[in-house]
Amino acid sequence: MSIASRRPALLAPLAALPLILTGCTSASGADDGTVDVMASFYPLQVVAEQVGGDRVSVSSLTPPGAEPHDVELSPAQVAHIGGADLVVTLSGFQPAVDDALAETAPEHVVDAADGTTLLPAEHAHEDETAEEHDEHEDLDPHFWLDPTRMPSVVDAVAATLTEIDPEGADTFAANAAALTQRFQDLDAQYAAGLNQCAVRTFVTSHEAFGYLADRYDLEQVGISGIDPEAEPSPARLAAVEAIVRDEDVSTIFFESLVSPKVAETLAADLGISTAVLDPIEGLADPDADYFSIATANLEVLRVALSCS
Ligand SMILES: [Zn+2]
Repeated sequence: MSIASRRPALLAPLAALPLILTGCTSASGADDGTVDVMASFYPLQVVAEQVGGDRVSVSSLTPPGAEPHDVELSPAQVAHIGGADLVVTLSGFQPAVDDALAETAPEHVVDAADGTTLLPAEHAHEDETAEEHDEHEDLDPHFWLDPTRMPSVVDAVAATLTEIDPEGADTFAANAAALTQRFQDLDAQYAAGLNQCAVRTFVTSHEAFGYLADRYDLEQVGISGIDPEAEPSPARLAAVEAIVRDEDVSTIFFESLVSPKVAETLAADLGISTAVLDPIEGLADPDADYFSIATANLEVLRVALSCS
Protein backbone atom coordinates (compact mmCIF):
# COMPACT_ATOMS: atom_id res chain seq x y z
CA MET A 1 0.00 0.00 0.00
CA SER A 2 1.39 3.43 -1.01
CA ILE A 3 1.77 6.31 1.39
CA ALA A 4 -0.67 8.37 -0.66
CA SER A 5 -3.43 5.82 -0.30
CA ARG A 6 -2.81 5.42 3.43
CA ARG A 7 -3.08 9.08 4.32
CA PRO A 8 -6.89 9.44 4.21
CA ALA A 9 -7.27 6.18 6.09
CA LEU A 10 -5.02 7.54 8.84
CA LEU A 11 -7.12 10.65 9.31
CA ALA A 12 -10.34 8.77 9.83
CA PRO A 13 -9.18 6.69 12.80
CA LEU A 14 -7.68 9.77 14.45
CA ALA A 15 -11.01 11.55 14.20
CA ALA A 16 -12.73 8.53 15.70
CA LEU A 17 -10.19 8.18 18.53
CA PRO A 18 -12.08 10.04 21.28
CA LEU A 19 -15.09 7.86 20.62
CA ILE A 20 -13.05 4.69 20.75
CA LEU A 21 -11.44 5.71 24.04
CA THR A 22 -14.85 6.47 25.52
CA GLY A 23 -16.01 3.05 24.39
CA CYS A 24 -13.08 1.31 26.09
CA THR A 25 -13.72 2.89 29.46
CA SER A 26 -17.49 2.45 29.42
CA ALA A 27 -19.22 -0.11 31.57
CA SER A 28 -19.32 -2.85 28.97
CA GLY A 29 -16.08 -4.39 27.77
CA ALA A 30 -17.95 -7.07 25.85
CA ASP A 31 -18.61 -5.29 22.57
CA ASP A 32 -17.20 -8.35 20.79
CA GLY A 33 -20.14 -10.44 21.97
CA THR A 34 -18.27 -12.22 24.74
CA VAL A 35 -19.50 -12.28 28.34
CA ASP A 36 -17.84 -9.46 30.29
CA VAL A 37 -16.49 -10.94 33.52
CA MET A 38 -14.85 -9.01 36.34
CA ALA A 39 -12.77 -11.05 38.81
CA SER A 40 -11.73 -9.36 42.03
CA PHE A 41 -8.26 -10.97 42.22
CA TYR A 42 -6.02 -13.48 40.49
CA PRO A 43 -7.14 -17.03 41.51
CA LEU A 44 -10.76 -16.07 40.74
CA GLN A 45 -9.60 -14.64 37.41
CA VAL A 46 -8.01 -18.02 36.61
CA VAL A 47 -11.32 -19.79 37.20
CA ALA A 48 -13.29 -17.30 35.10
CA GLU A 49 -10.79 -17.48 32.22
CA GLN A 50 -10.46 -21.24 32.22
CA VAL A 51 -14.18 -21.99 32.53
CA GLY A 52 -15.28 -19.25 30.13
CA GLY A 53 -12.63 -19.87 27.49
CA ASP A 54 -13.09 -17.69 24.40
CA ARG A 55 -16.75 -17.00 25.23
CA VAL A 56 -15.70 -14.54 27.98
CA SER A 57 -13.51 -11.45 28.41
CA VAL A 58 -12.09 -11.43 31.92
CA SER A 59 -10.51 -8.50 33.68
CA SER A 60 -9.19 -8.37 37.24
CA LEU A 61 -9.83 -5.60 39.74
CA THR A 62 -6.40 -6.22 41.25
CA PRO A 63 -3.62 -5.12 38.87
CA PRO A 64 -1.03 -7.81 38.00
CA GLY A 65 1.72 -7.86 40.62
CA ALA A 66 -0.32 -5.85 43.13
CA GLU A 67 -1.22 -7.02 46.62
CA PRO A 68 -5.01 -7.62 46.66
CA HIS A 69 -5.85 -7.22 50.37
CA ASP A 70 -6.12 -3.45 50.35
CA VAL A 71 -6.95 -2.86 46.69
CA GLU A 72 -8.43 0.54 45.92
CA LEU A 73 -10.80 1.06 43.02
CA SER A 74 -11.05 3.94 40.57
CA PRO A 75 -14.49 5.35 39.73
CA ALA A 76 -14.10 3.71 36.30
CA GLN A 77 -13.54 0.31 37.94
CA VAL A 78 -16.58 0.78 40.17
CA ALA A 79 -18.63 1.62 37.07
CA HIS A 80 -17.25 -1.46 35.31
CA ILE A 81 -18.33 -3.62 38.25
CA GLY A 82 -21.85 -2.28 37.90
CA GLY A 83 -21.91 -2.93 34.17
CA ALA A 84 -20.18 -6.32 34.09
CA ASP A 85 -22.17 -9.38 33.04
CA LEU A 86 -20.62 -11.33 35.92
CA VAL A 87 -18.49 -10.41 38.93
CA VAL A 88 -16.51 -13.17 40.68
CA THR A 89 -15.41 -12.17 44.15
CA LEU A 90 -14.68 -13.29 47.70
CA SER A 91 -16.73 -11.31 50.19
CA GLY A 92 -14.92 -10.13 53.30
CA PHE A 93 -11.50 -10.08 51.62
CA GLN A 94 -11.35 -6.76 49.75
CA PRO A 95 -13.48 -4.07 51.46
CA ALA A 96 -13.35 -1.75 48.42
CA VAL A 97 -14.82 -4.49 46.24
CA ASP A 98 -17.53 -5.30 48.79
CA ASP A 99 -18.48 -1.61 48.90
CA ALA A 100 -18.56 -1.32 45.11
CA LEU A 101 -20.77 -4.40 44.82
CA ALA A 102 -23.18 -3.01 47.42
CA GLU A 103 -23.26 0.30 45.58
CA THR A 104 -23.66 -0.95 42.01
CA ALA A 105 -25.57 -4.23 42.57
CA PRO A 106 -24.53 -6.04 39.35
CA GLU A 107 -26.96 -8.67 38.13
CA HIS A 108 -24.71 -11.73 38.42
CA VAL A 109 -22.24 -12.19 41.26
CA VAL A 110 -20.43 -15.38 42.23
CA ASP A 111 -19.18 -15.09 45.80
CA ALA A 112 -16.52 -17.75 46.42
CA ALA A 113 -17.35 -17.59 50.13
CA ASP A 114 -20.73 -19.18 49.37
CA GLY A 115 -19.19 -22.44 48.18
CA THR A 116 -16.59 -23.12 50.82
CA THR A 117 -16.56 -22.95 54.60
CA LEU A 118 -13.93 -20.38 55.47
CA LEU A 119 -11.68 -21.19 58.42
CA PRO A 120 -11.19 -18.84 61.36
CA ALA A 121 -8.02 -16.76 61.19
CA GLU A 122 -6.10 -18.66 63.87
CA HIS A 123 -2.96 -17.36 65.55
CA ALA A 124 -3.20 -13.98 63.85
CA HIS A 125 -3.66 -10.75 65.75
CA GLU A 126 -2.95 -12.37 69.09
CA ASP A 127 -1.42 -9.26 70.63
CA GLU A 128 -4.30 -6.96 69.87
CA THR A 129 -7.08 -5.83 72.16
CA ALA A 130 -10.58 -7.27 71.88
CA GLU A 131 -11.75 -3.92 70.54
CA GLU A 132 -9.19 -3.98 67.72
CA HIS A 133 -10.16 -7.55 67.01
CA ASP A 134 -13.80 -6.68 66.44
CA GLU A 135 -12.87 -4.22 63.75
CA HIS A 136 -11.91 -6.76 61.13
CA GLU A 137 -12.99 -10.02 59.64
CA ASP A 138 -12.36 -13.05 61.75
CA LEU A 139 -12.14 -15.46 58.81
CA ASP A 140 -9.06 -16.44 56.83
CA PRO A 141 -9.67 -15.52 53.16
CA HIS A 142 -6.85 -17.57 51.57
CA PHE A 143 -8.96 -20.63 50.65
CA TRP A 144 -7.45 -20.92 47.12
CA LEU A 145 -4.25 -22.37 48.57
CA ASP A 146 -6.17 -25.61 49.23
CA PRO A 147 -6.85 -26.84 45.68
CA THR A 148 -9.77 -29.00 46.85
CA ARG A 149 -11.66 -25.81 47.73
CA MET A 150 -11.49 -24.45 44.18
CA PRO A 151 -13.96 -26.75 42.35
CA SER A 152 -16.92 -25.17 44.20
CA VAL A 153 -15.98 -21.84 42.60
CA VAL A 154 -15.50 -23.58 39.25
CA ASP A 155 -19.01 -25.04 39.44
CA ALA A 156 -20.61 -21.76 40.53
CA VAL A 157 -18.90 -19.85 37.71
CA ALA A 158 -19.92 -22.49 35.14
CA ALA A 159 -23.54 -22.43 36.34
CA THR A 160 -23.77 -18.64 36.26
CA LEU A 161 -22.07 -18.35 32.87
CA THR A 162 -24.58 -20.88 31.57
CA GLU A 163 -27.42 -18.67 32.83
CA ILE A 164 -25.92 -15.65 31.06
CA ASP A 165 -24.88 -17.46 27.85
CA PRO A 166 -26.97 -20.66 27.50
CA GLU A 167 -25.44 -21.49 24.11
CA GLY A 168 -22.09 -21.94 25.87
CA ALA A 169 -23.44 -24.56 28.30
CA ASP A 170 -21.49 -27.49 26.85
CA THR A 171 -18.27 -25.48 26.60
CA PHE A 172 -18.55 -24.27 30.19
CA ALA A 173 -19.33 -27.77 31.48
CA ALA A 174 -16.37 -29.30 29.62
CA ASN A 175 -13.98 -26.52 30.70
CA ALA A 176 -15.17 -26.79 34.31
CA ALA A 177 -14.60 -30.55 34.35
CA ALA A 178 -11.08 -30.13 32.94
CA LEU A 179 -10.18 -27.41 35.45
CA THR A 180 -11.58 -29.38 38.38
CA GLN A 181 -9.42 -32.31 37.27
CA ARG A 182 -6.34 -30.06 37.34
CA PHE A 183 -7.13 -29.00 40.92
CA GLN A 184 -7.63 -32.64 41.90
CA ASP A 185 -4.32 -33.62 40.30
CA LEU A 186 -2.58 -30.80 42.14
CA ASP A 187 -4.10 -31.98 45.42
CA ALA A 188 -2.81 -35.51 44.78
CA GLN A 189 0.66 -34.09 44.05
CA TYR A 190 0.64 -32.13 47.33
CA ALA A 191 -0.69 -35.04 49.38
CA ALA A 192 2.05 -37.33 48.06
CA GLY A 193 4.80 -34.71 48.26
CA LEU A 194 4.04 -33.69 51.84
CA ASN A 195 3.31 -37.14 53.20
CA GLN A 196 6.72 -38.04 54.66
CA CYS A 197 8.47 -34.98 56.11
CA ALA A 198 10.97 -34.68 58.97
CA VAL A 199 9.49 -31.31 60.00
CA ARG A 200 5.81 -30.37 59.77
CA THR A 201 6.06 -26.75 60.99
CA PHE A 202 6.75 -23.89 58.63
CA VAL A 203 7.26 -20.20 59.39
CA THR A 204 5.94 -17.58 57.02
CA SER A 205 5.88 -13.78 57.04
CA HIS A 206 2.33 -13.56 55.71
CA GLU A 207 -0.07 -15.99 57.35
CA ALA A 208 -1.70 -16.99 54.08
CA PHE A 209 -1.19 -20.75 54.22
CA GLY A 210 -3.68 -21.87 56.87
CA TYR A 211 -5.78 -23.80 54.31
CA LEU A 212 -2.73 -25.49 52.85
CA ALA A 213 -1.56 -26.43 56.37
CA ASP A 214 -5.04 -27.65 57.28
CA ARG A 215 -5.33 -29.84 54.18
CA TYR A 216 -1.86 -31.42 54.34
CA ASP A 217 -1.45 -31.72 58.10
CA LEU A 218 1.20 -29.03 58.51
CA GLU A 219 1.55 -26.32 61.15
CA GLN A 220 1.78 -22.72 59.94
CA VAL A 221 3.52 -20.19 62.16
CA GLY A 222 2.96 -16.64 60.97
CA ILE A 223 5.26 -13.76 61.82
CA SER A 224 2.73 -11.12 60.80
CA GLY A 225 -0.95 -11.90 60.73
CA ILE A 226 -3.34 -12.39 57.87
CA ASP A 227 -2.59 -8.86 56.67
CA PRO A 228 0.82 -9.00 54.93
CA GLU A 229 1.65 -5.37 55.75
CA ALA A 230 1.22 -5.73 59.53
CA GLU A 231 4.37 -5.23 61.65
CA PRO A 232 5.00 -8.02 64.18
CA SER A 233 5.40 -7.10 67.85
CA PRO A 234 8.63 -7.92 69.77
CA ALA A 235 6.63 -10.51 71.74
CA ARG A 236 5.48 -12.18 68.53
CA LEU A 237 9.05 -12.24 67.16
CA ALA A 238 10.32 -13.84 70.38
CA ALA A 239 7.58 -16.48 70.21
CA VAL A 240 8.45 -17.30 66.59
CA GLU A 241 12.16 -17.55 67.48
CA ALA A 242 11.34 -20.07 70.19
CA ILE A 243 9.30 -22.17 67.76
CA VAL A 244 12.10 -22.08 65.17
CA ARG A 245 14.56 -23.47 67.76
CA ASP A 246 12.16 -26.05 69.23
CA GLU A 247 10.90 -27.41 65.91
CA ASP A 248 14.20 -27.37 63.99
CA VAL A 249 12.77 -25.00 61.42
CA SER A 250 15.32 -24.46 58.63
CA THR A 251 13.66 -21.78 56.55
CA ILE A 252 11.58 -18.64 56.99
CA PHE A 253 9.27 -18.05 54.07
CA PHE A 254 8.32 -14.68 52.73
CA GLU A 255 6.12 -13.77 49.81
CA SER A 256 6.80 -12.20 46.48
CA LEU A 257 4.49 -9.18 46.58
CA VAL A 258 5.54 -7.80 49.97
CA SER A 259 8.94 -6.64 51.31
CA PRO A 260 10.95 -9.53 52.81
CA LYS A 261 12.61 -7.27 55.44
CA VAL A 262 11.08 -8.81 58.57
CA ALA A 263 11.62 -12.39 57.40
CA GLU A 264 15.20 -11.70 56.35
CA THR A 265 16.11 -9.97 59.62
CA LEU A 266 14.66 -12.79 61.68
CA ALA A 267 16.32 -15.51 59.59
CA ALA A 268 19.67 -13.71 59.80
CA ASP A 269 19.34 -13.45 63.61
CA LEU A 270 18.63 -17.18 63.82
CA GLY A 271 21.18 -18.22 61.22
CA ILE A 272 18.65 -20.00 59.00
CA SER A 273 17.62 -19.44 55.39
CA THR A 274 14.75 -17.67 53.66
CA ALA A 275 12.76 -18.74 50.63
CA VAL A 276 9.71 -17.53 48.74
CA LEU A 277 6.37 -19.17 49.42
CA ASP A 278 3.89 -17.48 47.13
CA PRO A 279 0.31 -16.96 48.39
CA ILE A 280 -0.85 -16.83 44.72
CA GLU A 281 -2.71 -13.59 45.32
CA GLY A 282 -1.36 -12.00 42.15
CA LEU A 283 1.26 -12.64 39.48
CA ALA A 284 4.68 -11.10 40.04
CA ASP A 285 5.97 -13.09 37.04
CA PRO A 286 3.72 -12.88 33.97
CA ASP A 287 5.03 -16.23 32.71
CA ALA A 288 3.79 -18.02 35.84
CA ASP A 289 0.26 -19.15 36.59
CA TYR A 290 -1.68 -20.61 39.51
CA PHE A 291 -0.53 -24.15 38.80
CA SER A 292 3.14 -23.39 38.15
CA ILE A 293 3.33 -21.32 41.36
CA ALA A 294 1.55 -24.01 43.38
CA THR A 295 4.05 -26.58 42.08
CA ALA A 296 7.00 -24.29 42.94
CA ASN A 297 5.51 -23.79 46.43
CA LEU A 298 5.35 -27.56 46.90
CA GLU A 299 9.00 -27.93 45.92
CA VAL A 300 10.27 -25.29 48.37
CA LEU A 301 8.09 -26.73 51.14
CA ARG A 302 9.48 -30.22 50.49
CA VAL A 303 13.04 -28.89 50.81
CA ALA A 304 12.35 -26.80 53.93
CA LEU A 305 10.47 -29.63 55.67
CA SER A 306 12.92 -32.36 54.59
CA CYS A 307 10.24 -34.45 52.87
CA SER A 308 11.15 -37.70 51.21
ZN1 LIG B 1 -3.13 -12.60 51.85
